[in-house]
Amino acid sequence: MTAKIIDGKAFAAGLGDRIAETVTAFTEETGRTPGLAVVLVGTDPASEIYVRSKGRMARKLGMESFEHVLPETASQEELLALIAALNADDTVDGILVQLPLPRHLDSLAVVEAIDPAKDVDGLHPVNAGYLATGLPGLVSCTPLGCLMLLKSTLGDLSGLDAIVVGRSILVGKPMAQLLLAENCSVTVAHSRTRDLDYKVRQADIVVAAVGSAEMIRGDWIKPGATVIDVGTSRVIRDGEKRLVGDVEFAHASERARAITPVPGGVGPMTIMSLMHNTLLAAFRRSGRVAPQLW
Ligand code: NAP
Repeated sequence: MTAKIIDGKAFAAGLGDRIAETVTAFTEETGRTPGLAVVLVGTDPASEIYVRSKGRMARKLGMESFEHVLPETASQEELLALIAALNADDTVDGILVQLPLPRHLDSLAVVEAIDPAKDVDGLHPVNAGYLATGLPGLVSCTPLGCLMLLKSTLGDLSGLDAIVVGRSILVGKPMAQLLLAENCSVTVAHSRTRDLDYKVRQADIVVAAVGSAEMIRGDWIKPGATVIDVGTSRVIRDGEKRLVGDVEFAHASERARAITPVPGGVGPMTIMSLMHNTLLAAFRRSGRVAPQLW
């Protein structure tokens, strides 16, 4: 079997077109444009790139982008004051604080300070609670993007056995909750899991979110399974720098029914899910029902 390659870039582009159309309609109807505020503390080069690309994408889709950069030395109080101002600002529908924050800042307290209705990263405990209890909230962007790819590939996920490798608040845990809500039987694996290969071999759906290059061997993949590879690791192969996932792609794609590549799979979905969440927050905050875009 040769797996279908799940093209996250193409899916994200299509979703982006639908978001842009809906932004135009929302703006015409309400007289205001959905707005995303991104907060960066410090000058970490990777974070600067992420923040710039989020702002650029928001503008490309017709939304307002507000970028706030605080110095590396900013205090917790300064950051909380900025978040309070963004919470109170009616032109801001989504607030994202770029993580990780400098070590002297308390990330959890910062995330908790964001109005849950504007928490487009889906990291606030209230949104995690909504997800766990099946109530509508805002869902963490990367797992939401993974779910979109899974549903577009498989349709109904009901009754399938899924394994999520990784249990972070950002990816693994919300991914497991989303799959449970789709009526999958879900195993969550982590660094203390025993016999990981045995557990992966049982799964119809494998979501790998560890950050360990090709740790999931191709021959662990059940024939016909669908594989979503979230992990990214930079390695040197044949003298060249390469980005690889958590799954041994070449062998896994000989067994899987469908698989995401790294890069070009989950990555492009994360930013588009953020745009989706910002639009969703704008609809909800204006008392309107958002159209289903995926
Ligand atoms: P994280 O917070 O470091 O979590 C990693 C998880 O992997 C932890 O739960 C850890 O278990 C588990 N783990 C570590 N070693 C393991 C092993 N040998 N076997 C099984 N599980 C193991 O990372 P994250 O934020 O979830 O991100 C995971 C990966 O996804 C990273 O490579 C990150 O760069 C990537 N990522 C990509 C995107 C994208 O848009 N493409 C977005 C987000 C993240 P414990 O809990 O026991 O420590």
